[in-house]
Amino acid sequence: MEFYQKPALETRSADEYCAECGSPMTGDEAALNYKLVDKKTAHLLCPACLGRKMELSQESLREIITLFRKQGCTLFSPWVE
Ligand SMILES: [Zn+2]
Repeated sequence: MEFYQKPALETRSADEYCAECGSPMTGDEAALNYKLVDKKTAHLLCPACLGRKMELSQESLREIITLFRKQGCTLFSPWVE
């Protein structure tokens, strides 16, 4: 996964866990919940559970994460070309 090959600059570690299935997730995956669900939500879902809820594929969710990172959204880790 290219995310893990990027420099660790300001990248949050996988210290969040899915509220439904308990899977660990990256800071970017957690941040997606703030964008798609509610910016104050504490009910964080992994891409699999979030995708099921939002009726989006995990691939679509990854594209959305990439989009926000490229836009420089501060909830996400910085995009490095
Ligand atoms: Zn889950």
